[in-house]
Amino acid sequence: MSIDLHTHSRVSDGTQNPADLVREAAEVGLSVIAVTDHDTTAGWAQAIAAGRALGVRVLPGVEISSQSRGRSVHLLGYGLDATHPTLVDELAKARSSRLTRMRAMVERMASDGIPITYDEVLAQVSDGATLGRPHLADALVAKGVVRDRDEAFEDILHNQSPYYVGHYAPSVGAALALVHAAGGAAVLAHPFPRGRGYGISIDLIERLAAHGLDGIEVEHPDHDPGVVLSTRALAARLGLVPTGSSDYHGTGKVNRLGQCTTSAESLAELEHRIDDRSRRVGP
Ligand code: AMP
Ligand code: ZN
Ligand code: FE
Ligand code: FE
Repeated sequence: MSIDLHTHSRVSDGTQNPADLVREAAEVGLSVIAVTDHDTTAGWAQAIAAGRALGVRVLPGVEISSQSRGRSVHLLGYGLDATHPTLVDELAKARSSRLTRMRAMVERMASDGIPITYDEVLAQVSDGATLGRPHLADALVAKGVVRDRDEAFEDILHNQSPYYVGHYAPSVGAALALVHAAGGAAVLAHPFPRGRGYGISIDLIERLAAHGLDGIEVEHPDHDPGVVLSTRALAARLGLVPTGSSDYHGTGKVNRLGQCTTSAESLAELEHRIDDRSRRVGP
């Protein structure tokens, strides 16, 4: 059983539609895939239908862009009720703020002579998809300013760039409580990626664990081997379910689908917690 619990489709900044993502999962031999687009659950229905047709189990998920003291923290929510009113509102607020933020980034770039317009960015985005920096990268590629998304992020779009503008994001504590209120399980995504200007303190992870954080991504393409070992030990110490996932974005990143995977035991534990909470929350 091969399980990948973190992937993106065109519903956010991946490059395939959800059905094609699930089809590729079947082709590479995955038996379970979680579709975890940024700040949206819009891909679930298509992914689940494709999964049924292809014999791939689809765990519906979402990668919530949250923050702690202004620093970005990505929290994965699995098996949650996509109609939960506060969840719906928070995700809508984040998506809408991403539009304003994109306008601001484009304006900063234009005033510095980088020739890009908001409409050129929108031309890279599927209808209703969560707008993100990767779409801005795609617009810069289309303009010939950079070669690919990687170069765009290295040169212009990284978190310390003068063109970087943040967007509305709930606190990670609020996001965690929201995932639980909506009957889901919460897993901290890629806590220690190399070279991303991102990284979460052990202190914060301990506090989240005390507030019921369910799991933590141990294996991830951006985690160095030493980080994998130390994060696995951290998970064991704090009683967090260890997961492994590719964070696949189609052709938008070098990560391969199924590059990192989750054990059947970890998935069973997450599903057990989802069942428990859904029973308490559900109809
Ligand atoms: P945003 O959510 O709009 O701030 O954009 C962040 C997204 O950009 C994350 O989901 C990453 O997956 C993606 N990203 C970050 N660095 C890179 C990179 N070097 N190449 C492609 N995508 C990246
Ligand atoms: Zn992404
Ligand atoms: Fe992420
Ligand atoms: Fe991701």
